Amino acid sequence: MNKIFLTILFSAALFSASAQDVDDSAGSTTDTAWRHIYRASYPRINDLVHTKLAVSFDYDKQWMYGQEWVTLQPHFYPTDSLTLDAKGMTIKEIAIIKGKSKIPLKYSYDSMQLRIILDKTYKGGEKYTVYLDYISKPNEVKQHGSTAISEAKGLYFINPLGKTNEHREIWTQGETEANSVWFPTIDKPDQKTTQEISMTVPAKYVTLSNGLLVHQKKNADGTRTDDWKMDLPNSPYLFFMGVGDYAIVKDKYKNMDVDYYVEKEYAPVAKKIFGETPAMIGFFSKILNFPYAWPKYDQIVGREYVSGAMENTTATLHQDGAYQNARQLVDGNVWEDDISHELFHHWFGDLVTTESWSNLTLNESFANYSEYLWREFRHGKDNADELNYEDMQGYLMSGSSNKDLVRFYYKDKEDMFDAVSYNKGGRILNMLRNYVGDSAFFKSLNEYLNLYKFKPAEAQQLRLAFEDVTGQDLNWFWNQWYYGSGQPTLNINYDYDNGKERVIVDQTQKTGKIFKLPVAIDVYSKGANKKRYKVWVENASDTFYFNSSEKPSLVNFDADKVLLAIKKDNKSADEFEQQYQFAPNYMDRREALEYFSKNKMIPQLAWGLKDKYYGLRLLTLQNIDAQKLFSDPSVLSQIEQMATKEPHKKVQAKAIEILARLKDNKYQPLFEKYVTDSSYSVAGASLEGLAALQPAEAYNLAKKYSNDALGKLGEVISAIIIKNGSEADFDYLLNHFSNEPLSEDKIKDAFGFAKYLVTVKNPDNVRKGVDEIMKFRNQIPEQYRGYIDPPFKQVFAKISAAQQQNGNADLANYINGLLK
Ligand SMILES: [Zn+2]
Repeated sequence: MNKIFLTILFSAALFSASAQDVDDSAGSTTDTAWRHIYRASYPRINDLVHTKLAVSFDYDKQWMYGQEWVTLQPHFYPTDSLTLDAKGMTIKEIAIIKGKSKIPLKYSYDSMQLRIILDKTYKGGEKYTVYLDYISKPNEVKQHGSTAISEAKGLYFINPLGKTNEHREIWTQGETEANSVWFPTIDKPDQKTTQEISMTVPAKYVTLSNGLLVHQKKNADGTRTDDWKMDLPNSPYLFFMGVGDYAIVKDKYKNMDVDYYVEKEYAPVAKKIFGETPAMIGFFSKILNFPYAWPKYDQIVGREYVSGAMENTTATLHQDGAYQNARQLVDGNVWEDDISHELFHHWFGDLVTTESWSNLTLNESFANYSEYLWREFRHGKDNADELNYEDMQGYLMSGSSNKDLVRFYYKDKEDMFDAVSYNKGGRILNMLRNYVGDSAFFKSLNEYLNLYKFKPAEAQQLRLAFEDVTGQDLNWFWNQWYYGSGQPTLNINYDYDNGKERVIVDQTQKTGKIFKLPVAIDVYSKGANKKRYKVWVENASDTFYFNSSEKPSLVNFDADKVLLAIKKDNKSADEFEQQYQFAPNYMDRREALEYFSKNKMIPQLAWGLKDKYYGLRLLTLQNIDAQKLFSDPSVLSQIEQMATKEPHKKVQAKAIEILARLKDNKYQPLFEKYVTDSSYSVAGASLEGLAALQPAEAYNLAKKYSNDALGKLGEVISAIIIKNGSEADFDYLLNHFSNEPLSEDKIKDAFGFAKYLVTVKNPDNVRKGVDEIMKFRNQIPEQYRGYIDPPFKQVFAKISAAQQQNGNADLANYINGLLK
């Protein structure tokens, strides 16, 4: 699963000046009993073998009628009973299959689990098949008293009555243990089963499930039955069904089907969004030396799916943020990381599966790291290293330094889906790869996959594979990074005296825990000449000496820039100049540029405008903008060039945005030329420029371009309309806001829209507006609402006060009560 909150964390933190001080334990309530509940791996009494389902749907009631034939066997010890997870169902019949007959079984049911008495005692490995006839009622599960399930319905009907404009569809979401809302199973990740699913649906819709579509049959009543079959075992949480009026855009990897299920409007761009998938399958198969194991790979987009994406075996579900039109894609495909993430799960997660949620990082760290691997291969190491940096910041800012990567104590299994399991896990894999080397790293992964394919695994089994391949004891690494928490804070100082360069490294983390770190140090003389030393940092303070006949021009600690650490690297301006020019990595240049920016070293900072990597050109422009250094003539002339010649649209847009701030009429032709650019970013920045030059015309300009306005252009237009518009613009603004996918930008827009609502008089509109904002706010996971809620409360108070003044006391109270 990929969770969207991990990317919105950055902007969420913008609203909190003290993001670094956030401690997650402060937010948790007084309920600490969980700290003493050891989360053991799930006992395997009966093992799933095969699951056969026949289902049909009642759109009016939002029910699913199900029949199941589930084959099991005692794992080892004999047993005469079977417990199945079955959440909130109506059970009509349970029987054991004996040849062609069904013999009823006794059972009890508490709305969460079925306890079934078998017809006899079965020996270990002795197979039996239980038949169940039931109704799944996903929306009524909550009535049975479990609040946890209310947010994990398992089976989702979107616009079931077809009464709104939204795409009518059905999809399922299993992880962690929600698929047992729609079929009785042992809903644990250490179970694996083959499957057959027959779905009867209105004939006008298409279906998607795991494995292959083996048969279709038209029925007399206007329905069609599709039979899907998966011959390879996978865990119940990876089962999937999707139904809807989708276009199926066909693609291939070698002879294997790779299909994209999208709404018809997006069929023409589906290959622009998902078209790298076959290349990704080939790339991952190659580096792992392990071919893609499954019979096909399909991807589908679901509306109202609030997580990012889910790696259902061969049937990945994406959130509607994946939908991008041709103009959005000009600025880059924002969904590429999610596509690689879910695909890589088909090795790490779907093929070898975490045995318990405690070991979730065995799924998620690899999926997270696959985003790096793919970017490195397709877009270059600088691009990948930028992601490494952002993900590391995401982890450091999440305030989770007290959490072990593998955690046997947690409050809720959903809490495992955090910046530790994902971001930190990915960074740890990057360090491990750097330490053992590429060939050992990928060979170890290959061994792990071969040993545990179609089985569950825990983190020690990964260690054993690495030890077997490298011949080294790696307990120190696993104990420190997998079964330990936190990260080092390093203070690094340098001096040179009498033929010796000295590097002093102090570990200053407040926990007092001391980390053991293999570190590469490059000692430079005269430009790019360097000598590499490998050292171990392993004490509270370590001092390293390097012979050098003259003072080195640069000593580059953590020369590969892989350490998961907070570093204070006390280099001089001269040394940072050398580092920018001669050290090879993205982070080398980024650190130097940030130093130049902070110290307003304009000529050196301007080097970044010509950096070979667009991300650093963009960062440089952002720094120049933040520090207001753009009026410097040498910088300005470069920015002017970038405004027309820069190949990367987002960088070009930033250059134009800076020119827009100058309100200089000479740029009017430039803005007029680019306001119709295919890139929303470039067009938006240009419109900003035009609006600044002709403030009286701004509103008309905004209206002129509002027909096709997403991304930056949409933001600029909304901002202009909010500032200059009237109550009559409400529908446009509401529409724009509600159609914007859950993203970083949406947080900013939510506040702009909320401020506009202060001025709106029509109480119905105000109510619609605040409800839409609350709908968005409720999609933000609880642990991040601490950043979001206080500023929302402030602006809601203003909306409420305005309504009080308008005499709408009820509405005013309603708004005041929303964020109590
Ligand atoms: Zn994932």
